[in-house]
Amino acid sequence: MITDTLDRPLRNLRVSVTDRCNLRCQYCMPEEEYVWLPRENILHFEEISALVDMFADLGVDRVRLTGGEPILRRNLPTLVRMLSAKPRIRDLAMTTNGILLADHARDLYEAGLHRVTVSLDTLRPERFRRLTRRDSHQKVLAGIEATTRAGFTGLKLDTVVMRGVNDDELSELIEYGKRVSAEVRFIEYMDVGGATLWAMDKVFSRTAMLERLARHYGPIEPVTEESSAPADRFTLPDGTVFGIISSTTAPFCRSCDRSRLTADGMWYLCLYAKEGTDLRRALRSGASRDEIKSLIVPTWQRRADRGAEERLGVRHRTPLVQIGELRRDPHLEMHTRGG
Ligand code: SF4
Repeated sequence: MITDTLDRPLRNLRVSVTDRCNLRCQYCMPEEEYVWLPRENILHFEEISALVDMFADLGVDRVRLTGGEPILRRNLPTLVRMLSAKPRIRDLAMTTNGILLADHARDLYEAGLHRVTVSLDTLRPERFRRLTRRDSHQKVLAGIEATTRAGFTGLKLDTVVMRGVNDDELSELIEYGKRVSAEVRFIEYMDVGGATLWAMDKVFSRTAMLERLARHYGPIEPVTEESSAPADRFTLPDGTVFGIISSTTAPFCRSCDRSRLTADGMWYLCLYAKEGTDLRRALRSGASRDEIKSLIVPTWQRRADRGAEERLGVRHRTPLVQIGELRRDPHLEMHTRGG
């Protein structure tokens, strides 16, 4: 196993399969127009599979498929089948906005996908429309229900909580989670690339979430566990477990073993990183497996990234990347980097 300068192993790989999305959430894609990755640069499934093998050689055993919206990638179950056939990948998960899940959950399950996380920011259709600028709330709920019917267990629902937007729905979301057998995770609004409407006063902090939930439910206990997962987990008095991902006010960079591969094969060591490593070019220029691994190993060993922690030290925080820079390099967008 290789480790970086903070002794963090290379273990989790998030693989974006497309930069396209069928929602336009305020916290991620608030603009009218986007610059998309050139189609010819998008990795073929065989290329993704080959890269995952190289990462597995170096210790990666958890892969999460992301987007954009991953189910927009045509024939996604074919890729899932290729990845789930690799015994070294112990955990194969996907994060989706759920819109297309009702039609695809069964195929994905049968192809060998282990786990699904669905983004769900509100239970109110009108609010969903305002937040995402699309009218697909019903489809998302149908997708969530289809996931359990298809056979998936361990469903998670991810909610980005924004002050004045959906911070009044925390307990309703937890109750909904109970009904659909899902663990809800509340995520602080982050100032990453693409979040051009971000402002500190729109962040609803972990402390505020815990206060609000304790007022509703009574005492909340932290779950004690050893994990590199981004969510801290808590238990309500009735035993219900939920998570909080406090990337903005209490980051967890010290245990971060995640890196990200974009749909066009750029490899990033941090959600906040401005520079990545072009693995597509290496792959397409005919470099051998060992040559590509010898690109990956020293890059990880030099890794000192702790983007969210460093942002804590910035006094007057504004969005990380300005719009002009995002247009020049769409790799800086969270939707390209797989969130
Ligand atoms: S900011 Fe970077 S180092 Fe910190 S947890 Fe996120 S991806 Fe990991």
